[in-house]
Amino acid sequence: MSTEPSAAAPSDFIRDIVAQHSAEGRYPKILTRFPPEPNGYLHIGHAKSICLNFGIAREFGGTCNLRMDDTNPTKEDTEYVESIERDVRWLIGGWADHVVGLKAEPVEPFYASDYFGKLYDFAVLLIQKGKAFVCDLTGEQMAEFRGAPERPGKPSPFRDRSVEENLDLFARMRAGEFADGTKTLRAIIDMASPNIHMRDPVLYRIRHAEHHRTGGAWCIYPMYDYAHCLSDAIEGISHSICTLEFEVHRPLYDWLVDEVGLWKTRPHQYEFARLNLTYTVMSKRKLLQLVEEKLVTGWDDPRMPTISGMRRRGVTPQALRDFAYHIGVTKYMSLTDVAVLEHAIRADLNKHSQRRLGVLRPLKVVITNFPEGKTEMCAAANNPDEATTRDVPFSRELWIEQDDFMEVPAPKYFRLKPGGEVRLKYAFIIKCDEVVKDAAGNVVELRCTADLDSKSGGPTAGRKVKGTIHWVSAALAIEAEVRLYDRLFTESEPEKDGRDFKSVMNPHSLEVVRAKLEPSLADANAEVRYQLERLAYLTLDPDSRPGALVFNRTITLKDAWAKETQKA
Ligand code: ATP
Ligand code: MG
Repeated sequence: MSTEPSAAAPSDFIRDIVAQHSAEGRYPKILTRFPPEPNGYLHIGHAKSICLNFGIAREFGGTCNLRMDDTNPTKEDTEYVESIERDVRWLIGGWADHVVGLKAEPVEPFYASDYFGKLYDFAVLLIQKGKAFVCDLTGEQMAEFRGAPERPGKPSPFRDRSVEENLDLFARMRAGEFADGTKTLRAIIDMASPNIHMRDPVLYRIRHAEHHRTGGAWCIYPMYDYAHCLSDAIEGISHSICTLEFEVHRPLYDWLVDEVGLWKTRPHQYEFARLNLTYTVMSKRKLLQLVEEKLVTGWDDPRMPTISGMRRRGVTPQALRDFAYHIGVTKYMSLTDVAVLEHAIRADLNKHSQRRLGVLRPLKVVITNFPEGKTEMCAAANNPDEATTRDVPFSRELWIEQDDFMEVPAPKYFRLKPGGEVRLKYAFIIKCDEVVKDAAGNVVELRCTADLDSKSGGPTAGRKVKGTIHWVSAALAIEAEVRLYDRLFTESEPEKDGRDFKSVMNPHSLEVVRAKLEPSLADANAEVRYQLERLAYLTLDPDSRPGALVFNRTITLKDAWAKETQKA
């Protein structure tokens, strides 16, 4: 696997900032982080963030911490933790050489839950400084007191509790004396701030729940805004890069980091626009719905925009990294056409895939002037960039693609038609003499003659015919299941105007065919990407068994949707 990005490292406003800090020597080391919450599998949006954070670490000789932001016990699970590690390793494992825990096996992520003790001590410190208090308001009351951006909030009646009382109550919250939702710890900031997040935000809540790592050790859990910035500070993160919706949280981030301590490296937050893609939904919550309601086969269903789904489908890490580089990093919200992702996938597979012959929807062809029982080998190129070839057997009976024959040809149809000629790739020119039909009138067989001098190196090899089609030997082809995937949704913006995305699912997003493939594919290897010439890129699916191969169509060679739009 290549260890180099195929494009030069990009430049963007975040990299410009990091470059400047790096040149100034502002930090001993550039330290970024990627902080997923283990409440689902990672998706292509996360891939953008991973490539940015690990990419910056890589380009500036720094490090990127993979940190599980596991502060919400009820939604998180070790299954998700494990999938996240696997996906991050897969995406950047062969690429980043400045990555803590990803250079050596096994991956060692950081966990926000490892900081629960420290975070508790910081909260005690804030109470001692008179900067936090225990509040008895219910969630509903709190929302009412908080007010709205244009109208100041009202202070909680518990805001003036003494430091001693707050210390005592907070200790008892931790000891489990109070029920869920009856008390919170809140910062004392500014109930009149135009920024709602600064109106005495909640720092801790009571949750009598088992945590997937700390078990029953805690019954109070820190809120995201509190845990996140302080985890950054604990780890000495220099650049905390997140998506735009956190811009309004930044004053709170700064307030907490500065109230809690004097840090050797004081982290700063920078925001960029998240990735949105057409024909996709991207939040983990929605992807979980697809999984739970069995609208897909699982998180790694090859139609899912998850990293694990795309890996199973045959997308390479290089293609995802190329895509992330190509779309760039900005502060403007936008919607990226999924065709851009598909282009990156095709470009990468085109370079790296092994060419093979195979037929997805077979139609029988009999070469009447080719002897029965004879096999002739044809040299077929493995990849246009390599000089190597392999032998593909030709015999009297062949399969061709149903689409490559038209009994009543359309104008400019250059493939096979009655009386017409076509070249069989790497083999002979054939002419269709006779069309055989079944009782229902379906074409079931074509009887053809071959120009046996027209193979490469033969006397009539240079003879030009307009079309070239693919084929396999009927006697020697292997049969395999091929899963043909299409977009999951029929609408480019599945949730446009509040529409339920489940109402626009593409009923044809999966089609399964029994394909006829050249015999060499019996030894197909899951590490290798294949191109069925003229058709599609294929990869072996984990469901595959010896003698019962299953392939996924990663993507067609051409963009069928673009054609659709052109036609319309
Ligand atoms: P989701 O809404 O899908 O659950 P999230 O933001 O809640 O996403 P986290 O696990 O909190 O998921 O995200 C980890 C990191 O990935 C965060 O820094 C977040 O900003 C980033 N991220 C999530 N979605 C995207 C996206 N679509 N584009 C870019 N970065 C993203
Ligand atoms: Mg989140």
